[in-house]
Amino acid sequence: MISVEQALDKVLSYVHILDSEEKPIMDCLGQVLDEEVYSPINVPPLDNSAMDGYAVKAEDTLGASKSSPVYLDVIGEVRAGTIAEREVVPGTAYRIMTGAPLPKGADSVVRFEDTDEATRSGQPLSQIGIFCQVPQGHDMRPAGEDISQGQLVLQKGTPLRPQEIGVLASLGKVKARVIRRPVIATLATGDELVEIDQPLPEGKIYNSNIFSIAAQILRYGGIPKILGVTPDRVEDIIEKIKGALDADMLITSGGVSMGDYDLVKDVLATQGEISFWTVRMKPGKPLAFGVIEGVPHLGLPGNPVSSMVTFEIFARPAIMKMMGKKNLSKPSVRAILENSIENTDGRRIFARAIVRRENDRYFAQLTGPQGSGILTSMTRANGLAIIPEDVKGMKAGDVVQVLMLDWSEE
Ligand code: AMP
Ligand code: MG
Repeated sequence: MISVEQALDKVLSYVHILDSEEKPIMDCLGQVLDEEVYSPINVPPLDNSAMDGYAVKAEDTLGASKSSPVYLDVIGEVRAGTIAEREVVPGTAYRIMTGAPLPKGADSVVRFEDTDEATRSGQPLSQIGIFCQVPQGHDMRPAGEDISQGQLVLQKGTPLRPQEIGVLASLGKVKARVIRRPVIATLATGDELVEIDQPLPEGKIYNSNIFSIAAQILRYGGIPKILGVTPDRVEDIIEKIKGALDADMLITSGGVSMGDYDLVKDVLATQGEISFWTVRMKPGKPLAFGVIEGVPHLGLPGNPVSSMVTFEIFARPAIMKMMGKKNLSKPSVRAILENSIENTDGRRIFARAIVRRENDRYFAQLTGPQGSGILTSMTRANGLAIIPEDVKGMKAGDVVQVLMLDWSEE
Protein backbone atom coordinates (compact mmCIF):
# COMPACT_ATOMS: atom_id res chain seq x y z
CA MET A 1 0.00 0.00 0.00
CA ILE A 2 1.23 3.49 -0.79
CA SER A 3 0.31 6.79 0.80
CA VAL A 4 -2.13 9.31 -0.63
CA GLU A 5 0.77 11.67 -1.37
CA GLN A 6 2.78 9.00 -3.17
CA ALA A 7 -0.25 8.05 -5.23
CA LEU A 8 -1.03 11.65 -6.07
CA ASP A 9 2.58 12.35 -7.06
CA LYS A 10 2.46 9.35 -9.33
CA VAL A 11 -0.78 10.45 -10.98
CA LEU A 12 0.48 14.00 -11.43
CA SER A 13 3.75 12.79 -12.93
CA TYR A 14 1.77 11.23 -15.77
CA VAL A 15 -0.31 14.26 -16.71
CA HIS A 16 0.94 17.43 -18.34
CA ILE A 17 -0.27 20.88 -19.14
CA LEU A 18 -2.29 20.70 -22.34
CA ASP A 19 -1.85 22.81 -25.43
CA SER A 20 -3.76 26.03 -25.87
CA GLU A 21 -6.58 27.22 -28.08
CA GLU A 22 -7.92 30.61 -29.07
CA LYS A 23 -11.62 31.14 -28.57
CA PRO A 24 -14.30 33.71 -27.71
CA ILE A 25 -13.75 35.09 -24.22
CA MET A 26 -17.22 34.03 -23.13
CA ASP A 27 -16.16 30.38 -23.55
CA CYS A 28 -13.01 30.77 -21.47
CA LEU A 29 -14.40 30.96 -17.95
CA GLY A 30 -12.29 28.87 -15.57
CA GLN A 31 -9.52 28.32 -18.11
CA VAL A 32 -5.95 29.53 -17.79
CA LEU A 33 -4.66 32.30 -20.01
CA ASP A 34 -1.80 31.23 -22.29
CA GLU A 35 -0.74 34.66 -23.52
CA GLU A 36 0.31 37.96 -22.05
CA VAL A 37 -2.41 40.51 -22.59
CA TYR A 38 -1.28 44.09 -23.23
CA SER A 39 -3.78 46.88 -23.63
CA PRO A 40 -4.08 48.54 -27.02
CA ILE A 41 -6.04 51.41 -25.46
CA ASN A 42 -6.48 53.56 -22.39
CA VAL A 43 -9.38 52.51 -20.18
CA PRO A 44 -11.24 54.76 -19.86
CA PRO A 45 -10.18 56.26 -23.18
CA LEU A 46 -10.88 59.89 -22.14
CA ASP A 47 -11.18 61.93 -18.97
CA ASN A 48 -14.83 61.58 -17.99
CA SER A 49 -17.28 62.48 -15.30
CA ALA A 50 -17.81 60.26 -12.27
CA MET A 51 -21.05 62.06 -11.39
CA ASP A 52 -24.06 63.74 -12.90
CA GLY A 53 -23.31 67.45 -12.50
CA TYR A 54 -21.41 70.31 -14.06
CA ALA A 55 -18.01 70.26 -15.72
CA VAL A 56 -16.14 73.38 -14.66
CA LYS A 57 -12.77 74.98 -14.33
CA ALA A 58 -11.83 74.28 -10.71
CA GLU A 59 -10.44 77.80 -10.29
CA ASP A 60 -13.90 79.23 -11.09
CA THR A 61 -15.27 77.63 -7.93
CA LEU A 62 -12.86 79.41 -5.60
CA GLY A 63 -14.70 80.57 -2.49
CA ALA A 64 -18.07 79.13 -3.55
CA SER A 65 -20.44 78.10 -0.76
CA LYS A 66 -24.14 77.53 -0.27
CA SER A 67 -24.63 80.97 1.20
CA SER A 68 -22.61 82.65 -1.52
CA PRO A 69 -22.75 80.54 -4.68
CA VAL A 70 -20.62 81.17 -7.72
CA TYR A 71 -22.76 81.57 -10.86
CA LEU A 72 -21.49 80.14 -14.12
CA ASP A 73 -23.00 80.31 -17.59
CA VAL A 74 -24.23 76.95 -18.80
CA ILE A 75 -23.00 76.60 -22.38
CA GLY A 76 -24.17 73.10 -23.20
CA GLU A 77 -24.94 69.60 -22.10
CA VAL A 78 -22.94 66.43 -22.71
CA ARG A 79 -24.10 62.90 -22.11
CA ALA A 80 -22.26 59.60 -22.00
CA GLY A 81 -21.19 58.50 -25.46
CA THR A 82 -21.02 61.99 -26.97
CA ILE A 83 -18.39 64.70 -27.22
CA ALA A 84 -18.97 68.30 -26.06
CA GLU A 85 -18.99 70.73 -28.97
CA ARG A 86 -17.75 73.76 -27.12
CA GLU A 87 -14.88 74.54 -24.82
CA VAL A 88 -15.31 75.51 -21.18
CA VAL A 89 -13.79 78.94 -20.74
CA PRO A 90 -13.57 80.94 -17.50
CA GLY A 91 -17.04 81.70 -16.14
CA THR A 92 -18.76 78.83 -17.97
CA ALA A 93 -19.88 75.29 -17.18
CA TYR A 94 -21.17 72.30 -19.08
CA ARG A 95 -24.01 70.17 -17.78
CA ILE A 96 -22.53 66.66 -17.79
CA MET A 97 -23.76 63.11 -17.16
CA THR A 98 -21.82 60.25 -15.56
CA GLY A 99 -19.43 58.69 -18.05
CA ALA A 100 -19.50 61.61 -20.49
CA PRO A 101 -16.07 62.85 -21.62
CA LEU A 102 -15.06 66.14 -20.03
CA PRO A 103 -15.36 69.07 -22.42
CA LYS A 104 -12.13 70.76 -23.40
CA GLY A 105 -11.13 73.37 -20.86
CA ALA A 106 -12.93 71.70 -17.95
CA ASP A 107 -10.81 70.11 -15.27
CA SER A 108 -13.29 69.21 -12.57
CA VAL A 109 -16.90 68.24 -11.88
CA VAL A 110 -19.41 69.59 -9.38
CA ARG A 111 -22.24 67.17 -8.76
CA PHE A 112 -25.88 68.30 -8.98
CA GLU A 113 -26.28 68.05 -5.19
CA ASP A 114 -23.71 70.81 -4.80
CA THR A 115 -25.51 73.20 -7.13
CA ASP A 116 -28.83 75.02 -7.20
CA GLU A 117 -29.97 72.68 -9.99
CA ALA A 118 -32.84 71.21 -7.91
CA THR A 119 -34.38 74.58 -7.01
CA ARG A 120 -34.46 75.62 -10.64
CA SER A 121 -36.07 72.54 -12.10
CA GLY A 122 -38.33 73.23 -15.03
CA GLN A 123 -36.55 76.42 -16.02
CA PRO A 124 -34.00 76.36 -18.81
CA LEU A 125 -30.64 76.55 -17.15
CA SER A 126 -28.72 79.42 -18.57
CA GLN A 127 -26.86 79.83 -15.30
CA ILE A 128 -25.99 77.45 -12.51
CA GLY A 129 -25.18 78.29 -8.91
CA ILE A 130 -22.19 76.37 -7.56
CA PHE A 131 -22.27 75.70 -3.80
CA CYS A 132 -18.77 74.48 -3.18
CA GLN A 133 -15.20 74.92 -4.08
CA VAL A 134 -13.70 71.89 -5.83
CA PRO A 135 -10.09 70.99 -6.51
CA GLN A 136 -8.86 70.05 -9.97
CA GLY A 137 -9.81 66.51 -10.96
CA HIS A 138 -12.76 66.37 -8.58
CA ASP A 139 -15.40 63.69 -9.35
CA MET A 140 -13.83 62.83 -12.65
CA ARG A 141 -12.02 59.75 -13.89
CA PRO A 142 -8.83 60.46 -15.76
CA ALA A 143 -8.09 58.67 -19.03
CA GLY A 144 -6.23 55.43 -18.36
CA GLU A 145 -7.26 55.45 -14.71
CA ASP A 146 -7.99 51.72 -14.88
CA ILE A 147 -5.61 50.59 -17.62
CA SER A 148 -3.12 52.55 -19.62
CA GLN A 149 -2.28 51.89 -23.23
CA GLY A 150 0.56 49.40 -23.60
CA GLN A 151 0.22 48.12 -20.06
CA LEU A 152 0.53 44.40 -19.27
CA VAL A 153 -2.97 43.74 -18.01
CA LEU A 154 -3.14 39.97 -17.52
CA GLN A 155 -0.20 37.62 -17.22
CA LYS A 156 0.15 34.27 -18.87
CA GLY A 157 -1.02 31.63 -16.41
CA THR A 158 -3.91 33.66 -14.98
CA PRO A 159 -7.08 31.64 -14.41
CA LEU A 160 -9.99 33.50 -15.96
CA ARG A 161 -12.73 34.40 -13.51
CA PRO A 162 -15.69 36.63 -14.37
CA GLN A 163 -13.64 39.73 -13.52
CA GLU A 164 -10.82 38.76 -15.91
CA ILE A 165 -13.39 38.08 -18.65
CA GLY A 166 -14.74 41.58 -17.99
CA VAL A 167 -11.28 43.14 -18.17
CA LEU A 168 -10.62 41.39 -21.51
CA ALA A 169 -13.91 42.80 -22.78
CA SER A 170 -12.95 46.28 -21.57
CA LEU A 171 -9.97 46.11 -23.96
CA GLY A 172 -12.20 45.08 -26.86
CA LYS A 173 -10.53 41.68 -26.92
CA VAL A 174 -12.88 39.23 -28.60
CA LYS A 175 -10.86 36.03 -28.24
CA ALA A 176 -8.30 34.79 -25.77
CA ARG A 177 -5.65 32.09 -25.94
CA VAL A 178 -6.24 29.63 -23.10
CA ILE A 179 -5.05 26.16 -22.12
CA ARG A 180 -7.69 23.84 -23.48
CA ARG A 181 -9.99 21.79 -21.30
CA PRO A 182 -9.07 18.11 -20.90
CA VAL A 183 -11.34 15.55 -22.46
CA ILE A 184 -11.88 12.82 -19.88
CA ALA A 185 -13.37 9.54 -21.03
CA THR A 186 -15.43 7.75 -18.40
CA LEU A 187 -16.51 4.15 -18.30
CA ALA A 188 -18.48 2.28 -15.66
CA THR A 189 -17.82 -1.42 -15.26
CA GLY A 190 -20.04 -3.97 -13.58
CA ASP A 191 -22.39 -6.81 -14.54
CA GLU A 192 -24.93 -5.37 -12.13
CA LEU A 193 -25.23 -1.98 -13.82
CA VAL A 194 -28.26 -0.78 -15.71
CA GLU A 195 -28.62 2.53 -17.55
CA ILE A 196 -30.88 4.94 -15.73
CA ASP A 197 -33.56 5.09 -18.44
CA GLN A 198 -34.14 1.32 -18.29
CA PRO A 199 -36.40 -0.71 -15.99
CA LEU A 200 -34.49 -2.15 -13.04
CA PRO A 201 -34.41 -5.96 -13.14
CA GLU A 202 -33.96 -7.91 -9.92
CA GLY A 203 -30.33 -8.00 -8.82
CA LYS A 204 -29.33 -4.91 -10.78
CA ILE A 205 -28.59 -1.33 -9.79
CA TYR A 206 -28.56 1.90 -11.69
CA ASN A 207 -25.26 3.18 -12.99
CA SER A 208 -24.97 6.27 -10.87
CA ASN A 209 -21.19 6.61 -10.87
CA ILE A 210 -20.94 7.67 -14.47
CA PHE A 211 -23.15 10.64 -13.61
CA SER A 212 -21.35 11.70 -10.45
CA ILE A 213 -18.00 11.30 -12.21
CA ALA A 214 -19.08 13.16 -15.35
CA ALA A 215 -20.54 15.93 -13.17
CA GLN A 216 -17.29 16.19 -11.24
CA ILE A 217 -15.36 16.41 -14.52
CA LEU A 218 -17.66 19.21 -15.68
CA ARG A 219 -17.51 21.00 -12.37
CA TYR A 220 -13.73 21.15 -12.45
CA GLY A 221 -13.53 22.29 -16.03
CA GLY A 222 -13.04 19.08 -18.01
CA ILE A 223 -15.10 17.74 -20.88
CA PRO A 224 -16.58 14.34 -20.09
CA LYS A 225 -16.67 11.77 -22.85
CA ILE A 226 -19.09 9.18 -21.60
CA LEU A 227 -18.25 5.69 -22.82
CA GLY A 228 -21.18 4.08 -20.97
CA VAL A 229 -21.31 0.78 -19.16
CA THR A 230 -19.50 -2.46 -19.75
CA PRO A 231 -20.07 -5.84 -18.13
CA ASP A 232 -17.22 -7.45 -16.23
CA ARG A 233 -15.71 -9.14 -19.27
CA VAL A 234 -12.16 -8.47 -20.38
CA GLU A 235 -12.99 -8.31 -24.11
CA ASP A 236 -15.84 -5.85 -23.47
CA ILE A 237 -13.69 -3.65 -21.31
CA ILE A 238 -10.89 -3.63 -23.90
CA GLU A 239 -13.37 -2.81 -26.64
CA LYS A 240 -14.95 0.08 -24.72
CA ILE A 241 -11.63 1.50 -23.63
CA LYS A 242 -10.78 2.14 -27.30
CA GLY A 243 -13.14 5.08 -27.06
CA ALA A 244 -10.67 6.70 -24.69
CA LEU A 245 -7.69 6.70 -27.01
CA ASP A 246 -8.32 10.24 -28.22
CA ALA A 247 -9.00 11.51 -24.69
CA ASP A 248 -6.54 13.13 -22.31
CA MET A 249 -7.42 10.74 -19.52
CA LEU A 250 -9.61 7.73 -18.88
CA ILE A 251 -11.51 7.34 -15.64
CA THR A 252 -13.23 4.02 -15.00
CA SER A 253 -15.31 2.99 -12.05
CA GLY A 254 -15.40 -0.48 -10.53
CA GLY A 255 -13.45 -3.64 -11.06
CA VAL A 256 -10.30 -2.73 -9.19
CA SER A 257 -10.64 -4.73 -5.96
CA MET A 258 -9.92 -8.35 -5.14
CA GLY A 259 -13.11 -10.02 -6.40
CA ASP A 260 -13.23 -12.65 -9.13
CA TYR A 261 -14.73 -10.21 -11.59
CA ASP A 262 -12.61 -7.17 -10.82
CA LEU A 263 -11.05 -7.10 -14.24
CA VAL A 264 -10.16 -3.48 -14.87
CA LYS A 265 -6.81 -3.83 -13.19
CA ASP A 266 -6.14 -6.99 -15.23
CA VAL A 267 -6.89 -5.12 -18.42
CA LEU A 268 -4.61 -2.34 -17.31
CA ALA A 269 -1.89 -4.88 -16.50
CA THR A 270 -2.10 -6.68 -19.85
CA GLN A 271 -2.97 -3.80 -22.19
CA GLY A 272 -1.08 -1.03 -20.51
CA GLU A 273 1.26 -0.30 -17.71
CA ILE A 274 -0.10 -0.53 -14.18
CA SER A 275 1.28 1.83 -11.65
CA PHE A 276 -0.33 0.88 -8.37
CA TRP A 277 -3.59 -0.29 -7.10
CA THR A 278 -3.87 0.14 -3.37
CA VAL A 279 -3.69 3.37 -1.48
CA ARG A 280 -3.63 3.80 2.27
CA MET A 281 -6.95 5.61 2.39
CA LYS A 282 -10.56 5.04 3.27
CA PRO A 283 -12.72 5.07 1.33
CA GLY A 284 -10.83 4.18 -1.80
CA LYS A 285 -8.20 1.62 -0.91
CA PRO A 286 -8.44 -0.24 -4.20
CA LEU A 287 -7.47 2.20 -6.88
CA ALA A 288 -5.72 1.59 -10.13
CA PHE A 289 -3.55 3.93 -12.06
CA GLY A 290 -1.67 3.31 -15.24
CA VAL A 291 -1.31 4.24 -18.86
CA ILE A 292 -3.05 2.62 -21.79
CA GLU A 293 -1.65 3.51 -25.20
CA GLY A 294 -0.35 6.77 -23.86
CA VAL A 295 -3.58 7.73 -22.11
CA PRO A 296 -3.38 8.00 -18.32
CA HIS A 297 -6.00 5.75 -16.76
CA LEU A 298 -7.39 6.22 -13.30
CA GLY A 299 -9.41 3.21 -12.13
CA LEU A 300 -11.69 4.35 -9.34
CA PRO A 301 -13.39 1.87 -7.02
CA GLY A 302 -17.05 1.18 -7.75
CA ASN A 303 -18.54 2.12 -4.43
CA PRO A 304 -20.29 5.41 -5.14
CA VAL A 305 -18.73 7.31 -2.24
CA SER A 306 -15.27 5.86 -2.88
CA SER A 307 -15.54 6.82 -6.50
CA MET A 308 -16.41 10.43 -5.66
CA VAL A 309 -13.82 10.79 -2.90
CA THR A 310 -10.97 9.29 -4.94
CA PHE A 311 -11.99 11.58 -7.79
CA GLU A 312 -11.61 14.57 -5.48
CA ILE A 313 -8.24 13.41 -4.21
CA PHE A 314 -6.65 12.22 -7.46
CA ALA A 315 -8.65 13.15 -10.54
CA ARG A 316 -9.36 16.74 -9.64
CA PRO A 317 -5.71 17.73 -9.14
CA ALA A 318 -4.87 15.94 -12.41
CA ILE A 319 -7.51 17.99 -14.23
CA MET A 320 -6.25 21.17 -12.58
CA LYS A 321 -2.69 20.39 -13.68
CA MET A 322 -3.74 19.65 -17.27
CA MET A 323 -5.62 22.95 -17.34
CA GLY A 324 -2.49 24.81 -16.31
CA LYS A 325 -3.63 25.73 -12.81
CA LYS A 326 -0.93 26.33 -10.24
CA ASN A 327 -2.97 25.67 -7.15
CA LEU A 328 -4.05 22.05 -7.31
CA SER A 329 -5.65 21.72 -3.90
CA LYS A 330 -9.00 22.77 -2.57
CA PRO A 331 -9.23 24.91 0.53
CA SER A 332 -9.32 23.19 3.88
CA VAL A 333 -10.15 24.43 7.35
CA ARG A 334 -9.29 23.33 10.84
CA ALA A 335 -12.50 22.52 12.61
CA ILE A 336 -13.60 21.19 15.96
CA LEU A 337 -14.86 17.66 15.53
CA GLU A 338 -18.25 17.00 17.07
CA ASN A 339 -18.25 13.19 16.89
CA SER A 340 -15.74 10.50 17.63
CA ILE A 341 -14.30 8.36 14.91
CA GLU A 342 -12.02 5.33 15.08
CA ASN A 343 -9.21 4.51 12.76
CA THR A 344 -8.50 0.81 13.15
CA ASP A 345 -6.47 -0.10 10.11
CA GLY A 346 -3.97 2.68 9.66
CA ARG A 347 -5.48 4.29 6.60
CA ARG A 348 -6.25 7.95 6.05
CA ILE A 349 -9.96 8.41 6.53
CA PHE A 350 -11.90 10.97 4.52
CA ALA A 351 -15.11 11.20 6.53
CA ARG A 352 -18.11 13.01 5.14
CA ALA A 353 -18.74 16.05 7.29
CA ILE A 354 -20.84 19.15 7.56
CA VAL A 355 -18.75 22.16 8.43
CA ARG A 356 -20.38 25.20 9.94
CA ARG A 357 -18.98 28.39 11.34
CA GLU A 358 -19.97 29.70 14.71
CA ASN A 359 -18.40 32.72 16.40
CA ASP A 360 -15.40 32.58 14.10
CA ARG A 361 -14.74 28.93 14.79
CA TYR A 362 -15.43 26.01 12.50
CA PHE A 363 -17.20 22.88 13.66
CA ALA A 364 -17.37 19.60 11.78
CA GLN A 365 -20.14 17.10 12.28
CA LEU A 366 -20.06 13.73 10.54
CA THR A 367 -23.00 13.07 8.24
CA GLY A 368 -23.93 9.80 9.93
CA PRO A 369 -23.25 6.30 8.61
CA GLN A 370 -20.02 6.40 6.63
CA GLY A 371 -20.50 3.30 4.48
CA SER A 372 -18.92 3.78 1.07
CA GLY A 373 -22.17 2.76 -0.59
CA ILE A 374 -24.14 5.53 1.12
CA LEU A 375 -24.07 8.18 -1.58
CA THR A 376 -26.51 10.39 0.30
CA SER A 377 -23.75 10.89 2.89
CA MET A 378 -22.08 12.96 0.16
CA THR A 379 -25.21 14.96 -0.51
CA ARG A 380 -25.36 15.94 3.16
CA ALA A 381 -21.66 16.83 3.35
CA ASN A 382 -19.80 19.98 2.41
CA GLY A 383 -16.39 18.67 3.41
CA LEU A 384 -14.22 15.64 4.05
CA ALA A 385 -12.79 15.41 7.57
CA ILE A 386 -9.31 13.91 7.38
CA ILE A 387 -8.25 11.42 10.04
CA PRO A 388 -4.51 10.80 9.50
CA GLU A 389 -3.33 7.22 8.98
CA ASP A 390 -1.10 7.29 12.05
CA VAL A 391 -3.90 8.35 14.39
CA LYS A 392 -5.94 5.65 16.12
CA GLY A 393 -9.00 7.79 16.21
CA MET A 394 -10.37 11.18 17.13
CA LYS A 395 -12.92 12.24 19.64
CA ALA A 396 -15.37 15.06 19.96
CA GLY A 397 -13.52 18.29 20.69
CA ASP A 398 -10.39 17.32 18.76
CA VAL A 399 -9.26 19.63 16.00
CA VAL A 400 -9.58 18.03 12.58
CA GLN A 401 -8.51 19.21 9.13
CA VAL A 402 -11.45 19.31 6.76
CA LEU A 403 -11.05 19.42 3.02
CA MET A 404 -13.87 21.62 1.77
CA LEU A 405 -15.90 20.23 -1.10
CA ASP A 406 -18.04 23.33 -1.27
CA TRP A 407 -17.07 26.63 0.15
CA SER A 408 -20.23 28.08 1.52
CA GLU A 409 -20.65 29.52 4.93
CA GLU A 410 -24.40 29.89 4.67
P1 AMP B 1 -16.53 -2.79 -7.46
O1 AMP B 1 -15.52 -1.75 -7.20
O2 AMP B 1 -16.70 -3.11 -8.89
O3 AMP B 1 -16.23 -4.02 -6.64
O4 AMP B 1 -17.91 -2.24 -6.96
C1 AMP B 1 -18.10 -1.95 -5.58
C2 AMP B 1 -19.54 -1.60 -5.30
O5 AMP B 1 -19.90 -0.45 -6.02
C3 AMP B 1 -20.52 -2.67 -5.72
O6 AMP B 1 -21.51 -2.78 -4.73
C4 AMP B 1 -21.09 -2.14 -6.99
O7 AMP B 1 -22.38 -2.60 -7.22
C5 AMP B 1 -21.06 -0.65 -6.80
N1 AMP B 1 -20.92 0.01 -8.08
C6 AMP B 1 -19.99 -0.29 -9.01
N2 AMP B 1 -20.12 0.49 -10.10
C7 AMP B 1 -21.16 1.31 -9.86
C8 AMP B 1 -21.79 2.32 -10.61
N3 AMP B 1 -21.37 2.67 -11.82
N4 AMP B 1 -22.85 2.96 -10.06
C9 AMP B 1 -23.27 2.62 -8.83
N5 AMP B 1 -22.71 1.67 -8.07
C10 AMP B 1 -21.67 1.00 -8.57
MG1 MG C 1 -17.67 -4.52 -9.97
